[in-house]
Amino acid sequence: MPAPETNTPSNFIRNIVIEDVKNKKNDGRVHTRFPPEPNGYLHIGHAKAICLDFGLAEEFGGLCNLRFDDTNPIKEEEHYVESIKKDIRWLGFDWQNRLYFASDYFEQLYEFAVKLIKKGKAYVDDLNADQIREYRGTLTEPGKESPYRNRSIEENLDLFARMRAGEFADGTHVLRAKIDMASPNLNMRDPVMYRIRHAHHHRTGDDWCIYPMYDFAHGQSDSIEGITHSLCTIEYEAHRPLYEWYINELEIFPSRQIEFAPLNLNYTVLSKRRLLELVKQGHVNGWDDPRMPTLAGMRRRGYTPASIRNFCDMIGMAKNESTVDLAMLEHSIRDDLNKHALRVMGVLKPLKVVITNYPEGQVEMLDAINNPEDPDAGTRQVPFARELYIDQDDFREDPPKKYFRLFPGNEVRLRYAYFIKCDEVIKDEKTGEITEIRCTYDPETKGGYAPDGRRVKGTIHWVSAQHGVPAEVRLYDHLYTAEYPGQATGDFLDDLNPDSLEVVQAVVEPSLKDASVGQRYQFERTGYFCVDDDTTADKPVFNRTVTLRDTWAKIQKKQ
Ligand code: ATP
Ligand code: MG
Repeated sequence: MPAPETNTPSNFIRNIVIEDVKNKKNDGRVHTRFPPEPNGYLHIGHAKAICLDFGLAEEFGGLCNLRFDDTNPIKEEEHYVESIKKDIRWLGFDWQNRLYFASDYFEQLYEFAVKLIKKGKAYVDDLNADQIREYRGTLTEPGKESPYRNRSIEENLDLFARMRAGEFADGTHVLRAKIDMASPNLNMRDPVMYRIRHAHHHRTGDDWCIYPMYDFAHGQSDSIEGITHSLCTIEYEAHRPLYEWYINELEIFPSRQIEFAPLNLNYTVLSKRRLLELVKQGHVNGWDDPRMPTLAGMRRRGYTPASIRNFCDMIGMAKNESTVDLAMLEHSIRDDLNKHALRVMGVLKPLKVVITNYPEGQVEMLDAINNPEDPDAGTRQVPFARELYIDQDDFREDPPKKYFRLFPGNEVRLRYAYFIKCDEVIKDEKTGEITEIRCTYDPETKGGYAPDGRRVKGTIHWVSAQHGVPAEVRLYDHLYTAEYPGQATGDFLDDLNPDSLEVVQAVVEPSLKDASVGQRYQFERTGYFCVDDDTTADKPVFNRTVTLRDTWAKIQKKQ
């Protein structure tokens, strides 16, 4: 069968699948799975794996399962299961009725272990964790065999049954595969298959007090589900011989493990363990803090599913680990929002402007374009009146060179409105702070163009003081100041950016009064913003998704 026609960029995994389908391997079936451990929220790295697992299945008319790898009762929680399901659906993927849990297979996995014991390929060891480590040897030295390695099959069966029955305390016994203590691959030196953990499991309750290790659960779960291509990150490469050993010894369906490079992003830490630290220590406000690289955080920040999927396409799939520029992710969201977000005016740091020759009490409704990139988006009306707000940044009493915005004596265009000229600066007598700008407008320039052909170099946005809606705006910067957090000191927390969040009291145009949570906008000249769920009837709250400056596009142009 020829490769299906798609826009998907090719990659080595896709090529393997194409080859397998062509050769009718597994009857040409493609069945993948996404196997999260429910011990935290999904992050952008997981999005790469999700797009790959679900994307490949979709492309080849196959299936993709969602399987929770819930083999460690101590770290796993039900609410993580729910958040993971929500995030995958939000990204745009569907596991239909194929939701599985490794814990559903505990009985079957136990049977598998018994089978290995009966084959003389597994044994119960009484060494403790420290001793096992000591006996394992190193990369340069072979390991030593445990004195319990050659127990009889009967004794092993009995001990393993008693482990399950709860006769032994945590850490006193383990079940190990009997492979090769001298193998150059440490994973093959009689790896632990089961350990004793008298702990409550979020799904199986107190049914079990022995739990399978990841390596013994994962491949077998793949096999039980008939997974054809089991895709995982590169750190599992050295586990592949073990994955295959279990499958061969158990004579079960031969799922194939293929590794790919995990996503790394600069200025970002992607590890659930560390993200949990940020949450627990209060460096951020929860897993869905808009500064978090979690899908929940990115959703709240205003990222669209399409922009994340597009980013995952852009970064491609390689075997070698590298770091992707965060600017590329930001480029992807700008690209999407540029096409779809409505443009509005919002003043982040308000400075009052009084148009002295505009009649008091008069209000005009002016036409504003909703999105020049999308003609179907139409226009709306914004009220103009004598008192306005502009952004403090758009005024300078002493302008630097090439400053084209408002300064004493200069004329600028108010977007969609009129030309105004600054006549006077009013200051607080005590503090010297600028409190108000007095301007005059040219009534002939309605819509922002002068009939006499006179031009102005600056166009600035504004909001009517009387009609504008006070809003809280949260401006985010990188969560870390260092490109590779923790590189200098070994502790990623040392590089946290103390200024990653700035909250400002803004004024936005009245059309945003009833903006619904999750709605995304471009504030003209300022950036993209998304309505936060902290919004109340009295006050909208906006998160800045990204600024307008596309540093990645600039880098691309230079190359
Ligand atoms: P973390 O290292 O962040 O704690 P994890 O690998 O422990 O993540 P899992 O729940 O085991 O988290 O991951 C589910 C799937 O997502 C695995 O197949 C894993 O390989 C993949 N994955 C995890 N991190 C990344 C990443 N940065 N890039 C691509 N895939 C990833
Ligand atoms: Mg993992």
